[in-house]
Amino acid sequence: MNRFDYFMPTKMVYGQGVVREAGSSLALGQKALIVTGRSSARLSGALDDVLAVLPGEHVIYDEVENNPSVDTVMQGGALARKEGCDYVIAIGGGSPLDAAKAMAVLAVNDVHALDLYQNGWETRALPIVAIPTTAGTGSEVTQYAVLTIEDEETKKGLRGPDLFPQVAYLDPKYTESLPLGVTRDTAVDALSHLVESYLSKRATAASDLAALQGMALWGTTISALRQGTLDLEARDALLLASSLGGIAIAQTGTTLVHALGYSLTYYHDMPHGRANGVCMQAYLDYTMGVAPERVKTVLELLELDSVEAFGELMDALFIDEVGKIELTAETLAAYVDKAMQTNNIKNSLGDPVESDLSKILSASIK
Ligand code: NAP
Ligand code: FE
Repeated sequence: MNRFDYFMPTKMVYGQGVVREAGSSLALGQKALIVTGRSSARLSGALDDVLAVLPGEHVIYDEVENNPSVDTVMQGGALARKEGCDYVIAIGGGSPLDAAKAMAVLAVNDVHALDLYQNGWETRALPIVAIPTTAGTGSEVTQYAVLTIEDEETKKGLRGPDLFPQVAYLDPKYTESLPLGVTRDTAVDALSHLVESYLSKRATAASDLAALQGMALWGTTISALRQGTLDLEARDALLLASSLGGIAIAQTGTTLVHALGYSLTYYHDMPHGRANGVCMQAYLDYTMGVAPERVKTVLELLELDSVEAFGELMDALFIDEVGKIELTAETLAAYVDKAMQTNNIKNSLGDPVESDLSKILSASIK
C-alpha cells in the first residue's frame, strides 16, 4: 500500500433541508459574495434557501458560464474586492463552484488569474461555503478549481489547500431540477472520479475507502440512470457518490481520462462528464492489461460483467446525444500531445506513452 497523508478539511453537512437548518451559521463573515450560474441557483431552490436564512450583507455574481473562463473569475474577484466581501458562497454545478474558488483567491490577491498558475498566491483565499446543485464534480470537497485557458486552448486546474471549501451543504433536493442529460453527464463525471482514483498510481487506503463505497453507491443508480427515472433516493445516492468521488480525487488526482477529455470539451463542446465517459471503455481495456484485479473490482461493484458491458452502459446513457467525432491523424496527435503534458498522465497505472493514448482516444471516438 502507498504511504499517504490524508487531508480533507471541509465540513460536510448532508441531508434534506440542511441549508435552512444551518440558519445564521451559514455566514462565515459579514458580507458574502454569492457566486452562481445563470439559472441553477434559482431553479434548484438553493438560492431561496440561502437568502431565507443568511444574516449580514451579500452581493450576487450570477454570470458564471459552463467551463468558466479567466475573464469571469477576474470579474468576480474584482467585485468581491470592490464590495468588501469577506467570504464566498458558491451555489451550482462544478462551473460556479470552481469559479467561486478562483474568485475567493483573487478577492484578496490583486493579480491576474493566469499568474496564479505560474506563481501561486500569497494571501489565503477567502473562506468558501459550497452548495452543489449537480451530482458530479465533487468540487465541494476538493482543493481544485478548473478554468478554461484560451491562450493554451485547454482547461487547467488550480490547486491549493485553501481551495477546499470550509463547509459544504449537500441537499439532494437541489439536483431534482436537473434535466436528464445533465444528470447523466454529471453522474458519469462522478463515476470517472471514483474509477480513476481507484485506478490511480496514487491510490491509498484512505482514497480507496471513499472510491469503493462511492462505486457501490453509484452502481445502485444504474437502472434509474438508464431509464431516466431518478427518484429522490437515486439522487441521494448519486450526490453522496459524487462527494465520495471528490474526497477520493482530492487525495489521488485524476488520470488520463480527464487529460483526454479536456480536448473533447474544449474543441468539441462536449460536456465534461460525457467527455470522460466516452474514453472510459478504452481506458479500462488498457488498464485491464496492467492492473486486472483493480479493474475487476470496479466491474463487480457496478455489477457489470465485462469492460464491454461498461462501454454499453456509457453508450446507453449518451445515445443520440453524442455526434460522431471525426479526427484527422494530425488532430488526434495534437490532443494526445496536450494530454501528455498534464500531471494526470503521471497518475495513470501502466505509465502510458503517446501510442497508448492514441489507441485509447481513437477507440473512444468511434
Ligand atoms: P456545470 O457546468 O456547472 O453545469 C452544467 C449545466 O447544468 C449548466 O447549464 C447549469 O446551469 C445547469 N445546472 C446546474 N445545476 C442545476 C440544477 N440543479 N437544475 C437545473 N440546471 C442546473 O456542470 P458540472 O458538470 O457540475 O461542472 C463541470 C465543471 O466542473 C467543469 O468545468 C469541470 O472541469 C469542473 N470539474 C471540477 C472538479 C473539481 O474537483 N473542482 C472536478 C471535476 C470537474 P447554470 O447556467 O445556472 O450554471
Ligand atoms: Fe471531472
